[in-house]
Amino acid sequence: MKNDLRKLLRWVCRKLTYNDLASVVPVLLEVLNGSRQDIELKPQEVRPPHYRQFRVDPQPPLCEPLLPHAPQKDWEELQADHLRATGKTIAKVARRTGSPMPPEKCRCRHCHAPVRYLYLNNGKLGSQVQCKICKRTSPTDKPRRESKARYWCPHCGYALFRWKEDGLCTAFKCPNDHCPVYVRNLAQLTPEEHAMRKAGNTSQFKLRYLFREYHFASQDLPLKRPEDAPVDLNRIHHSLHTLGLCLTFSISLGLSARLTAQALERVFGIRISHQTVVNYIKAAACQLADFTDENSPVPEGTCAADETYIKIGGKTRYTWLVITETRRAICGYNLSETRGAKPTPGFTQSMCAPPAAPQTDALELGTDGLPSYDSATVAYNTAAVVAGGEAVLNKRTVIGLKNLDPESETYRVYKQLIERLNRTYKYHTRPRAGFKSFDGATALTTLFVAYYNFMRPHGSLGGHPPVAIACLKGKRLYPDMWVELLRQAA
Ligand SMILES: [Zn+2]
Ligand SMILES: [Zn+2]
Repeated sequence: MKNDLRKLLRWVCRKLTYNDLASVVPVLLEVLNGSRQDIELKPQEVRPPHYRQFRVDPQPPLCEPLLPHAPQKDWEELQADHLRATGKTIAKVARRTGSPMPPEKCRCRHCHAPVRYLYLNNGKLGSQVQCKICKRTSPTDKPRRESKARYWCPHCGYALFRWKEDGLCTAFKCPNDHCPVYVRNLAQLTPEEHAMRKAGNTSQFKLRYLFREYHFASQDLPLKRPEDAPVDLNRIHHSLHTLGLCLTFSISLGLSARLTAQALERVFGIRISHQTVVNYIKAAACQLADFTDENSPVPEGTCAADETYIKIGGKTRYTWLVITETRRAICGYNLSETRGAKPTPGFTQSMCAPPAAPQTDALELGTDGLPSYDSATVAYNTAAVVAGGEAVLNKRTVIGLKNLDPESETYRVYKQLIERLNRTYKYHTRPRAGFKSFDGATALTTLFVAYYNFMRPHGSLGGHPPVAIACLKGKRLYPDMWVELLRQAA
């Protein structure tokens, strides 16, 4: 039963005595078996298949307009062809004295014929020339209004127009009514959907090629990291070793704050409240967040990314993790309220650095079929190309549990990799029986990443952690490791 139905039921019951209910139930049964014509039910809502569908075209937009025609022969070759075919050469333009001339340096942009073969094509305006050699037109070098377009449709070459904009993202759309994408999507609509469109619901059907440009430079790009330490770790009442013990029990061993406080008191005779443990966790996470990001490896080769749900205050939220196949290290993470497209650009950036200067060569990124990954991949690659670089992310989709398509089969190993990581993450966060606040979840996740990358012995790495940090060399005990990491990060 849906949650709001349960609420409605409680509300109805509060209005009824036992006897009221006894007389209402038979009427409800009559409604259910269809014998009451005077009481109407809410009509069944049938959602048409293409209504409000979130889909992302995996094709990035073009960052330069298509040339009018494919590159072709040079004017001298064309001249030679003409001579061979006709026995004559093409004569230069005969100009009457005083007639307007194209600019002296002007050349045909198709065959590069010099100005003696070009004549002005649009009279007084003088902005276009026609070429006698290849018969095509080109602009003269006369300054003309530059096109403001920045992206072009990869399917039809039309300039995309700016459709919507918010602080994080600008959406561009292809306006061409003959664009193959638009024509195909329009043809797929059901008759009911066509009727809905006619009734004015046009924007609910995603028919045109759409590209979302994320503002990667923006400070507001959603990337969750701990902030606001509740205590100053330099002025705590307990010793640093006690702090190390707190982090060992709560993060490395995955105990709740209460059990950690109990372990400290009953095993080591150290009196500490569970609230103090919580404060230490949050403060340690603030101190270690940048250090963890800086020392986590850049992704290489093949990586697997996934979003896993967590409960915060009873609500479903998401943790995003990406792991490299060779080093088994977490190289990016984020937390968010939704699985939509918004959290993925920050996640991608936490993994590969800003697209203007990607810290990685081309890499394979295995994910599930969530369209948010396509959106982030296209946006990141396009931003890298616009900045003068190359596309770095090759996204591979691993769908479902069965090996239905070849791509899924090949990349299944990466799905298993990330699922194992998710299980480890859940093991270390599960005893909290859900997080109380987003900040708490962020703090625990940050410390989990630090623990996983720098301390946790990994079976397939010969018992070593994924990232060997110099300052932890020779340290065997978790409390000492935590204290040393905090010292390095201070
Ligand atoms: Zn030409
Ligand atoms: Zn198009």
